[in-house]
Amino acid sequence: PDLFQPERPNSKGFDLQHTPTLDRIDAARDQFRAHHWYARPLLSDDAHPEGDQPVINPAQPQDRPGAIAPASARDVEQALASAVPWQATTSVRAQILNAAADLYEANYGELFALLAREAGKSLPDAVAELREAVDFLRYYAANIPDAKPAGTFTCISPWNFPLAIFTGQISAALATGNAVLAKPAPQTPLIAHRAVQLLHEAGVPQDALQLLPGGPSVGAALTSDTRVSGVAFTGSTATALKIRVAMAENLRPGTPFIAETGGLNAMIVDSTALPEQAVQSIIESAFQSAGQRCSALRCLYVQEDIAADLLTMLAGAMDALEVGEPWSISTDCGPVIDDTAQQGIADHIAKARTQGRVLKELSTPPEGTFVAPTLIEIPGIAALEREVFGPVLHVVRFKASQIDQVIADINATGYGLTFGLHTRIDDRVQYITEAVHAGNIYVNRNQIGAVVGSQPFGGEGLSGTGPKAGGPNYMARFCTPDRQVSAG
Ligand code: GLU
Repeated sequence: PDLFQPERPNSKGFDLQHTPTLDRIDAARDQFRAHHWYARPLLSDDAHPEGDQPVINPAQPQDRPGAIAPASARDVEQALASAVPWQATTSVRAQILNAAADLYEANYGELFALLAREAGKSLPDAVAELREAVDFLRYYAANIPDAKPAGTFTCISPWNFPLAIFTGQISAALATGNAVLAKPAPQTPLIAHRAVQLLHEAGVPQDALQLLPGGPSVGAALTSDTRVSGVAFTGSTATALKIRVAMAENLRPGTPFIAETGGLNAMIVDSTALPEQAVQSIIESAFQSAGQRCSALRCLYVQEDIAADLLTMLAGAMDALEVGEPWSISTDCGPVIDDTAQQGIADHIAKARTQGRVLKELSTPPEGTFVAPTLIEIPGIAALEREVFGPVLHVVRFKASQIDQVIADINATGYGLTFGLHTRIDDRVQYITEAVHAGNIYVNRNQIGAVVGSQPFGGEGLSGTGPKAGGPNYMARFCTPDRQVSAG
């Protein structure tokens, strides 16, 4: 029965099919169409000349949503020296995090504008992202464990969920009473800065939550200083390994490290699958958020008997995708984050093109860092040397007799984040979902958009350390291990 009585409802979000709601969003967002934000280290004494480094709108290179003053070495030192764990009682912390959730919701127009102009997020993606951020705040506030905080936590977050993952990490660390030093991705400091302002406005003390925007040198300083008692990181597997080394060399053994990293996520569609349902799941999983989710589908295995028909249908569904300005409500697929990302993905597609393996490729607007949604045929997942973080879907045809090899190949990548399966045969669901190593497995639906509290999110192997975000075990890692006092 508990399963059906959540003690804390998730955020309702916005119904984008409802015209008056859309008009309301438009009006709220429009005030920030030309707004200029500024991100700086929040407790800094250093003079940071306004506009140190411009932030560029990935969809419109001439639009500059704001500027950033990266944290200096002095700012980092000052933040480390002044960080104070959040002393308030559990119920006061919960109350303040809930108040922050309400403030996030009240400021939806500004946050949607920021998500579009700084991160290239389409409106449906921005709505989902705000919901997830709010859900993290309320979920962690409602489930604070009875334990002591670790001390000062460094939280390093990615640009692909600049509000949701940023907020998820810091709210878990704050809920448990830690001081937080937050370093957002260099591409998305403005959203992070605004989020921290809202958390402070809700009542989180300034010295318990500090923002340190910047690049790898800021991250390196915040993961190798002995005053740091834990690190939460979401980003690439390669960076996670570097952080682990820095922590091993400099910090106390046993310092908690929570990493959520990359994936080479597969989906298997067998000949019993419902094609319309499979195609919709594939489109959403591969191309929503321009494929820039660590959960996104990268490699689709289709059973040979249905492959030709399914791929024809998939190509038709791709034709219906609108690639363009994320501000527009009809856009399905916005830009990728910056020109480095665009170039890396374009090189991958160009190589496939010379090998004659591109099955389908859409076109893009002339300006901005767009990548056309693309379908590439490959012999197997082992042909993928790396995670291609964009709207590129690889497809492999397989015969029923090869299913065990397919599963072995998927597991052999070493990653294990998400996995999707479309089949109408229950025994196969059981067999395949038991055999595939992945943190989040989805059957007969898309494989993105894990819901806080209902679908804790995280991977195995190269995909992360666990515990899963938005789940019952996450916050325990932000606390000191159990201490027991026995008297004789
Ligand atoms: N939690 C997100 C999802 O389920 C993905 C997180 C990420 O991309 O880092 O789609």
